[in-house]
Amino acid sequence: KRSSPSQTEFYQAAEEVLESLRPLMEKYPKYREHKIIERIVEPERQILFRVNWVDDNGEIQVNKGYRIEFNSALGPYKGGLRFHPSVNAGVIKFLGFEQIFKNALTGLQIGGGKGGSDFNPKGKSNNEIMRFCQAFMSELYRHIGANTDVPAGDIGVGGREIGYMFGMYKKLANRYEGVLTGKSLKWGGSLVRTEATGYGAVYFAKYMLEDRGETLEGKRCVVSGSGNVSIYTIEKLYHLGAIPVTCSDSNGMIYDEDGIDLELLKDLKEVRRERLTEYVKSRPNAKYTPVEEYPEGCNGVYSIPCYAAFPSATQNELNLNDAKNLLANGCVCVSEGANMPSTLEAVHAFIDAKICYGPGKAANAGGVATSQLEMQQNASMSSWTFEEVDAKLAQIMKDIFVNASTTAAEFGEPTNLVLGANIAGFRKVADAMIEQGLV
Ligand code: NDP
Repeated sequence: KRSSPSQTEFYQAAEEVLESLRPLMEKYPKYREHKIIERIVEPERQILFRVNWVDDNGEIQVNKGYRIEFNSALGPYKGGLRFHPSVNAGVIKFLGFEQIFKNALTGLQIGGGKGGSDFNPKGKSNNEIMRFCQAFMSELYRHIGANTDVPAGDIGVGGREIGYMFGMYKKLANRYEGVLTGKSLKWGGSLVRTEATGYGAVYFAKYMLEDRGETLEGKRCVVSGSGNVSIYTIEKLYHLGAIPVTCSDSNGMIYDEDGIDLELLKDLKEVRRERLTEYVKSRPNAKYTPVEEYPEGCNGVYSIPCYAAFPSATQNELNLNDAKNLLANGCVCVSEGANMPSTLEAVHAFIDAKICYGPGKAANAGGVATSQLEMQQNASMSSWTFEEVDAKLAQIMKDIFVNASTTAAEFGEPTNLVLGANIAGFRKVADAMIEQGLV
């Protein structure tokens, strides 16, 4: 039932999950009897709020703020905050919905939530970012808490923004607690959190490939985006001996045949906060292609021949044409760092081709899993070494792969990790909802 037709991304995410659940619903009538589908697609609570702030010219600006507390069957609501002009209720709802099952797959005690704003951080001064984050938190603080709802970063929200929001939370709530994850290492953050989503997506690819007797070593890979997830995907690909040859932003892409220069990319994006057009100034052999020159109807990144692809920018960045290009060029593995980067048609093409396809809710769960490890460290007032957290992350990614693939096999489609991940995630949440009664 589509009662809010403008929420296209949410319906797309829901369709993908519900499609997969058919065999489970047929086998176990209890989920129907308890009306789990009808209940799980409705958020437990949705908070919409106004965010006023003053820009550097003294002008008042007004943005929309969102926090969707979707499902708390498994633990406190957990999920990132996205600051991007494309944010609306449907985008936050799709992200929150995906988050429920992703968080369940980690095996950790976290419920699903998501939030953000249509605020555009691009071109804003540091002071404007701070004022916006403070204004945003001046409403959000009353809804969140270390055992209630624990937001993190997402597109447009990194360590700097988490710092400003934490400062405001602490002041208003008068509590120093692990209410946000992705904090600085100097005051409560966890080692590996910054790297976790990208590293996790590569670990997931590694486990999918290992299962078929293959490795990433020496293989050319394409990566989209050039933000947090992309940078650490590229870093882990190098660790495993692969050669990442692309990255992109919303204006264009880099193809660097010799392999992306990671130090240069980090300096551009994490220190100088510049656009990818600057990359070729230091690497004249690399090629920059603006979006307007991408092959018609395609994302340029996926036209580059590769062994494995790591979509790490945003939703619906990889369509059926891109899936066909990848498959025609011999790509055997797609591991999604971004949330829902592939359209439904592209997903079906990957499943039909029986390649190693890791859907976002499984492949990018390393970020939220490590956020939960940050919560554990905050709660016990301790901190673990890089090696400890990284080993836990790798194990969690392996467990997610095994869980998704054995569940897929249980329902007769062993290579279909979309089916496996959706059923495994759903089943855990649904059983908890039944045991906790109608609340
Ligand atoms: P960042 O803001 O750090 O980077 C986002 C990157 O994607 C930028 O290069 C950005 O380019 C690009 N991008 C964003 N929107 C678009 C668009 N409409 N078209 C083309 N490129 C775009 O975000 P993250 O790296 O944190 O997030 C990337 C993806 O990973 C998202 O889907 C997010 O939900 C998902 N994810 C992130 C997690 C995390 O821990 N950070 C955890 C799990 C999933 P530009 O600068 O031009 O906007």
